[in-house]
Amino acid sequence: MSDVLINVQNLSKYFTASRNFWGNPTSFVRAVENVSFQVYKGETLGIVGETGCGKSTVGRTIVGLYKPTKGTVSCAGEDIHTAIHGPNAMTMRRKLQMIFQDPYASLNPRMTVGDIVGEPLAIHKITSGKDRQSRVYGLLKQVGLNPEHASRFPHEFSGGQRQRIGIARALAVNPEFIVCDEPISALDVSIQAQVVNLLEELQSEYGLTYLFIAHDLSMVRHISTRVAVMYLGALVEIAAADELYKNPQHPYTKALLSAIPIADPAAEAKRQRIILTGDVPSPINPPSGCKFRTRCRFAMAKCAEMAPELITGANNHTIACHLVK
Ligand code: SF4
Repeated sequence: MSDVLINVQNLSKYFTASRNFWGNPTSFVRAVENVSFQVYKGETLGIVGETGCGKSTVGRTIVGLYKPTKGTVSCAGEDIHTAIHGPNAMTMRRKLQMIFQDPYASLNPRMTVGDIVGEPLAIHKITSGKDRQSRVYGLLKQVGLNPEHASRFPHEFSGGQRQRIGIARALAVNPEFIVCDEPISALDVSIQAQVVNLLEELQSEYGLTYLFIAHDLSMVRHISTRVAVMYLGALVEIAAADELYKNPQHPYTKALLSAIPIADPAAEAKRQRIILTGDVPSPINPPSGCKFRTRCRFAMAKCAEMAPELITGANNHTIACHLVK
């Protein structure tokens, strides 16, 4: 396995849900709890899970948009949150970029595309004048747009083109690591594949490392080197993409994967969907022990008493479940 670029250790992120009369917090949304994983240089780590499972919070905490409540996140051995509050803040911020889910909301409607893509270059004092203009034109060409698009405004573009502008903006500062936070979920199906192909081309050209957060399990399998599954703020399974999809071990992963339609009609007719009963519990007051136990058909007494630890077995397949020895 290649070098570790991003190392997340025991990461927790809580948000205040309510306060008392004096303004002190009285309850918290436990968005992410005790999550640990690594992202290796040059790979794409996919993160999947239902809405509200904490996958976007993990991505935002890694790039420094949120401060961890507990735990650490480091990039090439350097603590990210110490660095972004110290004298090397700009150097660290250049290494970590983000592509947002909603290409409509993430671009300033009052700025031209040239200003949007050129803004990071100005903030990081990378180029100026004519050099900056030619760098912006070059970035637009790299993402499949034309230099003449630089003088237009975001509302003049389609959803797919706006996401390309977002990608050009993220690439402007030559980052090492990009969090792609559901970059295709707001796009038409026909455009999704184009954006994913563009991300793959840029990765092989620049050796980029991605954290790819998505709902679409088929697309995650296609783009990811490894896939991590989250449930209610906890990491429940992580393995190489093919291994996870062919041999899921955690009951939650099995249920998620059973929902993917199969292109072959004969196989699709035999597909047995595992329907999860009950609602996802509140992250303000999550279940004791295994967080999945209220919806797990294999739950036993031990599952309420003790949270299962992540255990790595054959094929580097890591699972948190008392059923897995
Ligand atoms: Fe189900 Fe228990 Fe495994 Fe959790 S630890 S997934 S409740 S069997």
